[in-house]
Amino acid sequence: MTARCSSQLSLRSSRARLGSPKSRFRNQEPGVRSQEPEVRGPKTEDRSLETSSFLTIPDSRRSPSGRSELPSSNEAKARIAVLGGGITGLAVAYTLARAREGGAPFEELLIEADGRLGGSILTECIEGFVVEAGPDSFLAEKPEAAALCRELGLADSLIGSNDRERRTYILHRGRLVPLPDGMMLLVPTRLWPIVRTPLLPLTSKLALAAEWFMSPAAGNFERAGGRRTVDESVASFVRRHFGDAMLEKVADPLLAAVFGGDTARLSVRSVLPRFQEMEQRYGSLTRAVLEMRKQRRRQRARSPRAVLDSSPPLFMTLKEGLGHLVVRLSERLANSRLHLDERVVGLEPVSARGRNSATQATPQYKIHCEGGRSYEAGAVILALPAHACSRLLSSMDAGLSTTLAEIPYSSGLTVALGYDAAVARQLPPGFGFLAPRTEARRLVACTFMHQKFLQRAPEGHALLRCFLGGTRDSEVLGLGDAEIVSLVRQELAQILEFSAEPEFVRVYRWPSSMPQYVLGHEARVAAIENQLAKHPGLFIAGNAYSGIGISDCIRTARTAAARAQNLCASR
Ligand SMILES: Cc1cc2nc3c(=O)[nH]c(=O)nc-3n(C[C@H](O)[C@H](O)[C@H](O)COP(=O)(O)OP(=O)(O)OC[C@H]3O[C@@H](n4cnc5c(N)ncnc54)[C@H](O)[C@@H]3O)c2cc1C
Repeated sequence: MTARCSSQLSLRSSRARLGSPKSRFRNQEPGVRSQEPEVRGPKTEDRSLETSSFLTIPDSRRSPSGRSELPSSNEAKARIAVLGGGITGLAVAYTLARAREGGAPFEELLIEADGRLGGSILTECIEGFVVEAGPDSFLAEKPEAAALCRELGLADSLIGSNDRERRTYILHRGRLVPLPDGMMLLVPTRLWPIVRTPLLPLTSKLALAAEWFMSPAAGNFERAGGRRTVDESVASFVRRHFGDAMLEKVADPLLAAVFGGDTARLSVRSVLPRFQEMEQRYGSLTRAVLEMRKQRRRQRARSPRAVLDSSPPLFMTLKEGLGHLVVRLSERLANSRLHLDERVVGLEPVSARGRNSATQATPQYKIHCEGGRSYEAGAVILALPAHACSRLLSSMDAGLSTTLAEIPYSSGLTVALGYDAAVARQLPPGFGFLAPRTEARRLVACTFMHQKFLQRAPEGHALLRCFLGGTRDSEVLGLGDAEIVSLVRQELAQILEFSAEPEFVRVYRWPSSMPQYVLGHEARVAAIENQLAKHPGLFIAGNAYSGIGISDCIRTARTAAARAQNLCASR
């Protein structure tokens, strides 16, 4: 199957922004693709103009000065400003634009610091490979992302993961060992694969068997209204249920790959809320998972329609890459005001005296941007990382700013390598592997993209995507590209036993991009919401609060847009 790229669609304009090869991550922008010349060895080609999500404002919507102009104050209707043009900000702006087109009395304005839209979502088409620099897919179980794609007319582009090939390996004493069949995330549901796996020692297998007999936890944790009042780390939770080996070989590497995080600090209530609920109801997670499966099977038997889609894929994406979602959203914002290359540096409430006459009764905010430009709005939706929100709120509300800054972030980088058919034939079947920290590798995870999804590489070719960094190894972002490529190739050669030259290599850096839901996260988010309530018309959305996936971002975007709309309607 041939790979398709979203850049094959016509775009009004596109532009690539390349980072300085000498710069280090502290002064690089997220998603900045490293320039090729620093990467020695692999064949490279500058396909920057194929980059699908480097979208800029069309010339027709710019003023002669190169800025999009707003109507002057006295012609302004209620204005809702969206800060940040990642998937969250785009989904907010799109929701508002649809409401406005349906007659809602406001205008929306989106301000983005970068020269392109999409934030962490960036797809590049390189020599026929569809390369995802950031996220590669979304969980099918959470409906918001697929629903948005369908709403945007992208139903035919949706593809599911190639679940017949679904196998994940764990690097164990230098060798790839498959995760035992029947694992539901951390929970083993089949006995025989667990008995046979060389991943876990006998003591761990006995602990897994004993887990079956755990009763709903009580005693050592205080409860209020059926909920634990004491937060617990993921590490402690997994250890209590399944023992140290399961933590070290499965939970820790999995969460290092998904969150770039550390299980000893991550909160089980915020990261694995469903597992905590299962524990409260059943005690044993194994019994809970099997019981829920039984219930689902019964439901399916009762509902003939459900039988038709009885095996939904685990992950979904778009044939052309996730950048296509960004392209389509920006096309749908053709009549919205988009300001790119505009960094917001401060927010202040406008005093009643300073308000314009058209919106006399409404609280308003003044948005200050780098370079001195400012905008006014009746409502502001912050679709930014929490650390960016914290900075721009520091003079308006020091308390809120401090609480936002307490959400830590980790940094990571992805390295994409395209290979020819010889390498593709040599790879084991499956989606890729995870490297536990005890293996002392710099690779955290490697995905075999061409096997996880069809249409990611030209026929017969292989596309590998490696993840490095996270809380485990933030120093890796301080290395130059050549060093990173060299260490990635060296580790791949040792683990996968090939030394072929890649057809291309790309390094993408994502500084401070992954929020960490550490112990106390739920209380922190509640405090943020309380503090926000003091500022009517100010809303937050994004991955820092109640889920880091793309669907979570879209869900929070829809909620924030609805709240802002309601506020405008009530004025
Ligand atoms: C490497 C990586 C892999 C991932 N893999 C997956 C995956 O496979 N599946 C999945 O569901 N999720 C994945 N995620 C998570 C998911 O991509 C993110 O949660 C999501 O894209 C975040 O979107 P956002 O719009 O909230 O934030 P961002 O994408 O970070 O966008 C925020 C935007 O705000 C802008 N901005 C920042 N400061 C300012 C300012 N002062 N003024 C104006 N603009 C500003 C930024 O330039 C940026 O464009 C991954 C994340 C990363 C980093």
